[in-house]
Amino acid sequence: MFDRERKVQSALKRRTTKGVFLLAMMLSPCASAQTKVKGADPRSPIELYFQAHAFGDGDYIRQAFAPDARIMFMEEDQPKQWNTEEFAKRFQQPADDEYRRVRRIERLDSSGSAASAVVTLNYPHVQFTDHLSLLKVGGEWKIVSKVFYANRRNAGEEAIDEIQREWSLPFEPRRIVGNIYYVGTNAISSFLIVTPAGNILLDTGHVEMLPLVEGNINKLGFNPRDVKLLLNSHAHFDHCGGFAEFKRETGAAVLASRLDGDLMSRGGREDFAWGDDLAYEPVKPDRIIGDGEHVELGGVALMAHLTPGHTRGCTSWSMRVEEGGKSYDVLFVCGLTVSLYKLTNNVRYPAIVEDERNSLRKLHAMHADVMLAPHAFYFDLAGKASRQKPGATNPFVDPTELARHLAEMEKDLDDSLQAQERQRTAIGEK
Ligand SMILES: [Zn+2]
Repeated sequence: MFDRERKVQSALKRRTTKGVFLLAMMLSPCASAQTKVKGADPRSPIELYFQAHAFGDGDYIRQAFAPDARIMFMEEDQPKQWNTEEFAKRFQQPADDEYRRVRRIERLDSSGSAASAVVTLNYPHVQFTDHLSLLKVGGEWKIVSKVFYANRRNAGEEAIDEIQREWSLPFEPRRIVGNIYYVGTNAISSFLIVTPAGNILLDTGHVEMLPLVEGNINKLGFNPRDVKLLLNSHAHFDHCGGFAEFKRETGAAVLASRLDGDLMSRGGREDFAWGDDLAYEPVKPDRIIGDGEHVELGGVALMAHLTPGHTRGCTSWSMRVEEGGKSYDVLFVCGLTVSLYKLTNNVRYPAIVEDERNSLRKLHAMHADVMLAPHAFYFDLAGKASRQKPGATNPFVDPTELARHLAEMEKDLDDSLQAQERQRTAIGEK
């Protein structure tokens, strides 16, 4: 199965070399107050330190730390020492995966002219935790000591593990509303839209769950081979990892937005947030759909709404269904979570926050009687499924669901942004 097994193998090997090291930085007594930064807040030097990492620029270190500070670095019981200048010289350019790092101030206690902070830097393969002490020197805050340790990790492997373990359990397939059926797992959605001219499938999930999805389609009395159009919410492996295989089996045409179509063609590689960690078998879209465009089959029309943020070409889909003599607006929202991503100084996706806000705004302006999403927990599939009874009102019809979901996603974004300290803005304003 592509190179995922190989990747997991090598990741397991790396895990055994779990290295924890310590970096202690101590300030010599004669700290100079000369600095370019007007830092009236202990966050200022911490943000400068973050900038040093983000831009690979040692000048930020010279501003954040006292000039004649010493750095002590412990590795396997072997202490090494640097001063500020030596430390600053290590910041020569942003690392290759700089755009994937998330920095946070986890804790900050400040009283009078002393402060302490715990800071984390989340790299895809390692998490650093800094314990910083700060002093107000000549009216400006400086980092005066720092203890540093690192935990080896593999963010991609962690994500795959969780998805395989927790999100790929069987779920009884069912009709949701009108001609829309749920054929996904307990957590990863796959929607079958039935028309007289053949069927439409929105997402297959990852390739390992494909037999489950096909089994669900059969169980409902339909044939996977009748799927003519394969639509995508977004080009992550857990939503379109099965496209290449499904297309081979059924000949269905793949439709995608331009940017997620590109990602799909690369098999998820060079993802702005995941790099090559969540790769899948590439598939080339047969048709590129733009914002506001319609996809039609057998009298059913779905409209594409580009809602970038989670991926650059994340696509929400809307359609109308008839049920019991009534007509309902159905909205398949795209993934909207960005909280795990680097939201500040993201050189690979500078407009990520702007895009996400615009997408949330765009969706807020829409109406949905039935809101569905790429993950079952976003629309309470299990809860609603348990309330489906013959003769009862359809629990999936809930015009309040969209606003509730969007408020949740907005909070997720705001919390994460705050945690990431709006670094660029903070520095830019000072
Ligand atoms: Zn995703």
